[in-house]
Parts: sequence; C-alpha cells; structure tokens
Amino acid sequence: MSALLEVSGLQVAFGELRAVRGVSLTVGKGQTLAVVGESGSGKSITSLAVMGLLPAQARVVEGEISLDGVNLLDLAPEELRRLRGEELAMIFQDPLSALNPSLTVGYQIAEVFRRRRGASRAVATGRAVEAMAEVGIPDAAERAKAYPHEFSGGMRQRVMIAMALALEPRLLIADEPTTALDVTVQAQILRLLRERQRAGLAMIIISHDLGVVARTAQSVVVMYAGQAVESGTVAEVYGTPAHPYTLGLMAASPSARTGRRGIRPIDGNPPDLTALPSGCAFHPRCPFARERCRTETPALRPLPSGRTSACHFAEEVLAHDRAAGA
Ligand code: SF4
Repeated sequence: MSALLEVSGLQVAFGELRAVRGVSLTVGKGQTLAVVGESGSGKSITSLAVMGLLPAQARVVEGEISLDGVNLLDLAPEELRRLRGEELAMIFQDPLSALNPSLTVGYQIAEVFRRRRGASRAVATGRAVEAMAEVGIPDAAERAKAYPHEFSGGMRQRVMIAMALALEPRLLIADEPTTALDVTVQAQILRLLRERQRAGLAMIIISHDLGVVARTAQSVVVMYAGQAVESGTVAEVYGTPAHPYTLGLMAASPSARTGRRGIRPIDGNPPDLTALPSGCAFHPRCPFARERCRTETPALRPLPSGRTSACHFAEEVLAHDRAAGA
C-alpha cells in the first residue's frame, strides 16, 4: 500500500491539556481508514489537525502530517488553504451548520468553481448541477435553486459531499457523516461514499458507530483518551480485538444477531484529560486490569500480522476472544 497520508507522533494541546497524545496513522491511496472511539477520544481533533482547521486555542505541539511526502505543518496558511478542496476535503455530521442558509445550494456549490477554478457564472452553475446529479440528487437543475432548509437531512449531506468533492480531492475526511440520519438514508450515504472509494478516493471515516466502519473501511484505529490503543485491518480488529477497550466498544454496539437487546455499555466514563489515571488510562474501566496497569503505561506495540495494541496483556485478550468465539 503506498501511503497518501502519514500522521506520525501527533500531539495537539489546548493550553496545558493534551487532547491528542502521540497518534500515528497511515491512509493508502484509494483506501479508507476508520478512526473510532467515544466522545473526547481525540478522533475529531486529529482530523481537524490534518485539515489545518484546529480551533484557535489548539496547536500541534509535536509530530508530522505528511500528504504524499509533503509535511502539511510546514506549509504557509495560504498554501494549506489551497490544498483544502484541491487535495483534502471534509464533511461533518451537521451539514446545515456548514451551509449558508440565505444562499441557494446551487449558488454555494457554484462558488467553489468560481473561486477556485475561475469559472464564469454560467459554467460554474452548470458544473454545480452536474456535481449534484453525481451524488444522486434527483432533478438537480431544479433543486439547485432551493435553499438548504428545503432539503432533507440526507439530501443536505449529499450536497455537502458534492461540495467537498467538487475539486476532486484525493482524501476526504468524513466526521460522523451519517450520525444524524435515519438507517435507510444512512445506507444510501454510505453506498455513495463506497462508490467514490471505488473510483479511487481515499477516506478517513471518523465514527463511534462500528457498523458504519465495517461497511466502509479496510483498516481501523481505535482511540482512547487522545491515544491510539489498537490498529489493524477491520477484519482483524473486529474479529479478535486485541485491546479491552475495543472489546468494550464491540459489546456496546448493537450486533446483527442480538440487535440493541445485546448491548453492554462500557463501565464508567472516559477520563478527564486534565487528570488522566496513572499507568494505562483505561485501567479504571478495564475488566482485565491488574497492578501493573496502574503503574506502567503500555506502549502501542506490534503483534503478529502487523496489527498493534497498547495493552500489557494483549495476548491474553486475544486468547479470551478466541475462547469466547470457540
Ligand atoms: S494495559 Fe491493563 S488496564 Fe490497560 S487495557 Fe491492558 S489490561 Fe486493561
């Protein structure tokens, strides 16, 4: 797999608080990587750092973010602005907040072609209609004249995808793209993203929904308290989790077999990042924890087959999975 995006040792701080603590991840060309974890795990902050869109109070204090060998952290703001849209694009959970309510949807998409490609008004409008049709918005020429509030949630997300893909970026970051949508519309949006993936688009899907991940990504990074605690292919990580937190996330998700009835939430709450537990940050919630976990911070280490886990007892967790699955 040749890497398109490589993030290594990323640390993001809000003043004294470290929201992202040494995260590394790789996205291959045309591949989809999922980043999963509870709220506050640092997954969205990691993606905003990649986009160069961190809030004003946050800053990258260490690490590298390289796109095709270019360290984005070395670029001037105007160069990074140019890359956004051309090379990198992002869609969010709530498209309504990203669209201007007082402008028609067609105008807003056309603006991308006018500003970035210097297209005339007529050409830009035509391309906006094409972009809307490509993401499956029916009767695109008419719908282009409508305002954001006149679209359903699913259609608004399609508009955002059309806008994000207008300049044919190589990497799309989708932060909880289907969380606000009902199940049927969610399936349609995921199908649309998979079509784009097959056409060569690389993606990072940020999600707390393991079902969404299974349907879109080849590989996954599990984050907890600002750190990656497990990574590997979706098949490996879902089949036999090598970290108790991943096991907990799986147990807390509805399964195809038991539906919502089988859900077992993880005990306790994510930690306060200003007062992290000693040793392994997951130890107060971990059913596998023992004395060593309270004193010694586990490093993210490779396991056979190239996956990684930040658990002192990863082999034991794997053996537990196998016994449970036998
Ligand atoms: S290191 Fe210990 S506390 Fe942390 S996940 Fe592994 S078993 Fe649990």
